[in-house]
This record gives sequence, C-alpha cells and structure tokens, in this order.
Amino acid sequence: MNTPHIPSKREPHIDAQGWLTSAQRLPSPNFEARPDNAVPTLIVVHNISLPPDDFTTNSIADFFLNRLDHDAHPYFDHLRGMRVSAHFVIRRDGAIEQFVSCDERAWHAGVSAFCGRERCNDFSIGIELEGSDRVPFENAQYEALAALVRMIVKRYPIDALAGHSDIAPGRKTDPGPHFDWPRLRHDSALPPSYFPFQSGD
Ligand SMILES: [Zn+2]
Repeated sequence: MNTPHIPSKREPHIDAQGWLTSAQRLPSPNFEARPDNAVPTLIVVHNISLPPDDFTTNSIADFFLNRLDHDAHPYFDHLRGMRVSAHFVIRRDGAIEQFVSCDERAWHAGVSAFCGRERCNDFSIGIELEGSDRVPFENAQYEALAALVRMIVKRYPIDALAGHSDIAPGRKTDPGPHFDWPRLRHDSALPPSYFPFQSGD
C-alpha cells in the first residue's frame, strides 16, 4: 500500500508567518515590511562575532535586540546607535536563532547590489554565521546552514545565494576566505545556477 508522505508537524519548517519552527525566536524591532510586496529571492551569507573572534558571548543577539552594553568592550563603542538585524544567526554549535520573520525586511546587507538590483535587503534573507574572516567555521554550522537553506528554498522562490562580500564588494569581506562554498553547494543539493559567484567546477 502506498501511503503518501505527510510531513509531521514536528518536522522543522518555516511556518506561515515566516518563522523557523525549530529556531530560538528572539524577535528584533529592527525590521520593516518588504517594499512593493517583494518576495525573497536571494539568500545572503554573512559572518559576525562580537567582539570579533570571541564566540563565548551573547552579544550578537544583544546587538540585534538593541540591548548591547556599549561600555562592556572597546569594540562595542563604534556600534552605538546602529540598528541592524539579520533573519538568522547560526551559533558555533549549530543552534539557530531567528530575529526577523522571513516575510519581513531585515537590516543586514546595507548598501548593496545583486546583478544590478540595488537594496538587497528588500528581496533577501540574511543568515549570519557566528565566526570571522580569520578562523574556519564549525561542521555543525555547515550542517545547520544547509538544512536551513533547504527549508527556505522550499518556502520561498529563492534563485540565488551570495556572500555579503559579493553584493557589497570593497565594503564587506564576509563570510570570508574560510567559508566553504563548494561544501554548501554540495550539502544543499542546489544546482550551480544558485551560486552565480562561484565557478562551475
Ligand atoms: Zn555581513
């Protein structure tokens, strides 16, 4: 007897409101509606750590929630007054935190252009890997990222993935030289056309 596969409610997915059911939900006030009913077609991969190269704090979340103690570290001083967010942060152990619904416009890309189309925040989903340009990412982060990308692609008409450095060249360097694009390409099982900034081999 052939029984069609009905996904269990427990299987992680992006729900009808744009939230990943398995993520830790930390709603940030730093978002707005996507303009002109834009739908996300691009995933932007970043890295971030606060302070840089310190992976032991909850400062990224504090930053995205506008509650960072700017006197706690000299590096935090220049972040004063900044209002930023990303849809997702993947911690070093692979745990996923979500700050903004995928349906809304998060503030992660800044001045940017993808294939001539400006303001990438309008039409993208931003994923921050806790990390830096100086150290490799963790296996658990690649596994979580590939699974997250697959869930997003299932839910939204995504047709490309890019690094922040690809859409803001000269201004941004993340996700940096350690980020393994071929691994993401392989693990996400997406065709090469989804990776316009990677060579085809
Ligand atoms: Zn970035």
